[in-house]
Amino acid sequence: MHLGEGRDHLSVCAVSTPMGYGGISVIRISGPKSFEIVKKSLKSDQNLLSHRAFLTNFQEASSGKILDEVMILPFEKGKSFTGEESVEISCHGSPVICGSVLKELCANGAVMAINGEFTYRSFMNDRLDLIQAESVLSLIHSHSQLGSELALRQLKGELSLRLSSLKENIVWCLAHIEAGIDFSEQGIIVVEDKILSDRLEAALGELNQLLNSYETGRILKDGIVLVLSGEPNVGKSSLMNVLLSMDRSIVSDIAGTTRDVIRDDLIYKNLKFTVVDTAGIRMDSNDPIERMGVDRSLKERQEGFLNIVILDASKALSGQNGLIFDGLNLERTFFVLNKVDLLDEAQVLEKRSEFKLLLGSLFGLIAANGFSNRLLFTSSLATDTKNQILDVIYDYWIGKYSHIESVAVSSARQREELKLAQKLLIRVVEGLSTQLGSEFIAFDLKESLMSLQRVVGEVYDDQILDKIFKEFCLGK
Ligand code: GDP
Repeated sequence: MHLGEGRDHLSVCAVSTPMGYGGISVIRISGPKSFEIVKKSLKSDQNLLSHRAFLTNFQEASSGKILDEVMILPFEKGKSFTGEESVEISCHGSPVICGSVLKELCANGAVMAINGEFTYRSFMNDRLDLIQAESVLSLIHSHSQLGSELALRQLKGELSLRLSSLKENIVWCLAHIEAGIDFSEQGIIVVEDKILSDRLEAALGELNQLLNSYETGRILKDGIVLVLSGEPNVGKSSLMNVLLSMDRSIVSDIAGTTRDVIRDDLIYKNLKFTVVDTAGIRMDSNDPIERMGVDRSLKERQEGFLNIVILDASKALSGQNGLIFDGLNLERTFFVLNKVDLLDEAQVLEKRSEFKLLLGSLFGLIAANGFSNRLLFTSSLATDTKNQILDVIYDYWIGKYSHIESVAVSSARQREELKLAQKLLIRVVEGLSTQLGSEFIAFDLKESLMSLQRVVGEVYDDQILDKIFKEFCLGK
């Protein structure tokens, strides 16, 4: 069944708080007959006034048997989350009580809601646009404070507002181009091409900025994935445990102990990090399972956001196996020389030069020179290693994305639509400069506008809505 399938005349109900035992649970009912349905289970003289909460017994309508003492909070049509008449019932937090209240609501004429139906109704009743609906989900699932702040800004409509001024600009251009087509036979010029192209280039600039914010948005939403890799025994698992402040990965001096990928999350400075420990990379293993582990390690490195390549500072760097550096994206790589506790100060300096030489021979002098602030000397035995590593990564990230924007695109769906709009807009700007026929330009511009309208949900199809709302849990 999909959400739009003629259900708007129904009053739907579900538990909106997590299922389980707690102080209270909140049951939500929304739809045209919500007040009438709830009233059937209250004492006959009780009136429902919007936004006036009251404590009362909730009873079985047929027998008068009291099911629970509840708090009723009614919302009249137009003044609720969904935009419909709705009621929130706070009952005692027990699955049994929730079940009996829901059963009673259904006996009184309600039906059970399906996943995301409350937010869907809110969208259909123009209480939220599609970006805001998606941000409800992001807010519920946000892992860190920065992530929830971004979702909240989107819920408040900041991204929608940026898009709306972008759309206005495009609509203005489209209207003038189309008027130009209508008046062309009379030889009337409605608007100079220069004015049009200036406005469209400004729109394109704005669109580019929004698209550039995607990486920031995605990280704020999903966090930074850090992949630890290196030869066996360099201290990957030890550093993983240090970063997570717990014994998550097995530490041993037997090479090949970590054979599969191990991952876990932590929050640092309000940002989520996922740390991934991988199997030691070595070339000479005859063990097929270990070789599979190595393949996975290399794959993880391609997929992670940042790589931390760990080397053993107490050993000669020149003997490293080449696979350690294979396919590395240097832009996203930090090198950690671990076990620095085994070195004295002079040896640390020597290691630094040795590392620079090694990097120079592998990636060229420019790369080697630019690396000093992405080379760390650590010891898993030192107490400040966690802060030492995470601070450097955090500062690098903040430096790279210092424009942590008040507004950022954070969903792949939004990004795909914006990319399409960008592609079309580039074609429009080029078309204007090469005097392409106005009909063609208008066509592309209209398509570009449609893409932006799909981002906010002014234009949509049921499949897209189903896909978005199906990710919601029941009661949202
Ligand atoms: P992995 O195979 O890369 O995951 O390495 P492990 O974390 O299992 O460590 C291998 C060995 O090195 C273990 O005996 C650790 O106790 C030791 N080790 C790890 N980090 C350090 C460090 O910073 N200093 C010293 N001295 N030994 C370390």
